[in-house]
Amino acid sequence: MRGLRGFRPRTDSLEEEMMKLRLLILFCSLACTAQAQTVAIRAGNVVDPAHGTVAKNQIILVRDGKIAEVGPNVAVPRDATVVDLSNAWVLPGLMDAHTHLTAGPAPGTPAAIITPYLMESTALRALRGAHHARVLLEAGITVVKDIGNDAEYAAVDLRRAIARGWIPGPTMLTTGKIIAAFGGQSRGVPPEQGPFWRHEYIDADSPDEIRKAVRRNIYYGANAIKLVADNNPYFYSQEEVRAAVEEGHAAGVTVAVHVVGGQAARNVILAEPDSIEHGFELSDEQLRLMKEKGVVLVGTDFPEEHLKLMGFNPLQEGKTMGQRIVDRLRRAHQIGVKMAFGTDVYMDLPEKSRADLTWDYLDVWRAAGVPPAEILKAMTTNAAELMRIEKQRGALAPGLAADIIATPENPLENIQALRKVHFVMKDGKIVKHTR
Ligand SMILES: [Zn+2]
Repeated sequence: MRGLRGFRPRTDSLEEEMMKLRLLILFCSLACTAQAQTVAIRAGNVVDPAHGTVAKNQIILVRDGKIAEVGPNVAVPRDATVVDLSNAWVLPGLMDAHTHLTAGPAPGTPAAIITPYLMESTALRALRGAHHARVLLEAGITVVKDIGNDAEYAAVDLRRAIARGWIPGPTMLTTGKIIAAFGGQSRGVPPEQGPFWRHEYIDADSPDEIRKAVRRNIYYGANAIKLVADNNPYFYSQEEVRAAVEEGHAAGVTVAVHVVGGQAARNVILAEPDSIEHGFELSDEQLRLMKEKGVVLVGTDFPEEHLKLMGFNPLQEGKTMGQRIVDRLRRAHQIGVKMAFGTDVYMDLPEKSRADLTWDYLDVWRAAGVPPAEILKAMTTNAAELMRIEKQRGALAPGLAADIIATPENPLENIQALRKVHFVMKDGKIVKHTR
């Protein structure tokens, strides 16, 4: 307000002022009309991932960024823009509950995960994130949870830029810095190098330190929380994980915990976070305990070829890491643990986009015997519930955001149809429509 004191309008005549006012009103009414534009999608096949069903010949009416009506007999307003998807399969936008848009170590180098912390600025990280955000959106991924490794909160600013409409991208949840016991996800860095991992992680080694770390992340804009429970021989206690869960939930954000297996996983499950990330070595007993406690598995089920590229596919009891991952996914599916699709894609490869890398995970889910309908559910409804956005997104229903995609083939018959997404609408705006 202080800046307005002493402000005087320039001495335009009254007539000129009135003309400006009339132009302003005209501009406003044009802008409002444009905003109120209705889109009617003629959908040949509407897929409902929650139930694995298809409804034929539907009309989806989109108004003000939201789905207004869906049904076979919806009246199309005369001024509506009609989109013809009568030969397509139409479904809600897809979600990745575990990704790293701003991280991008070159694969196959020693200490590949650590070097970008030292070699890339937060600004460069944000710009990488902007690139990947567009690629993923155009491929049909309309929501992502960016689960850390974003330097000084690069993903938070990326989220804000997308929300302001400056750049195209999915709706984002961001966890800020990863909370972990001393050392983050590094091991054995010589003391003279200093704790440089703190650009990516918060060292927190007691329930009180963990509570403080959660608060710090939320202060800097995180709208979800991520812990790494077991990177080193020392690992978090149930009490420590519980501190994060309580603190996060009190602030209205979900808590995801990276853990592989063993006693550390048991501590995590008993602390009842929203999700376990990875869990590659969870036993059947632990999976049953997760089901009982309602902890979601975000399995980040790496394809064998990706593990090789990362130089990480050790043999254990005669099985490669890739084989063990398929086995764990099969067991989790058979036991009935609730699962949300999450990739942990963080590599930058010249020959493959992040979207290409994402679709590679579909092979792993199929190899584990998960039917396409269940995979779609993990990529929509389940992921939305985990991220607590199910009242806004994740289904094609009136009142929800118009995040709508389409494929030329039936993904319930062949899940690889998702590689061919040819229509993407985000919050009611058409991002892509190729024929
Ligand atoms: Zn990850």
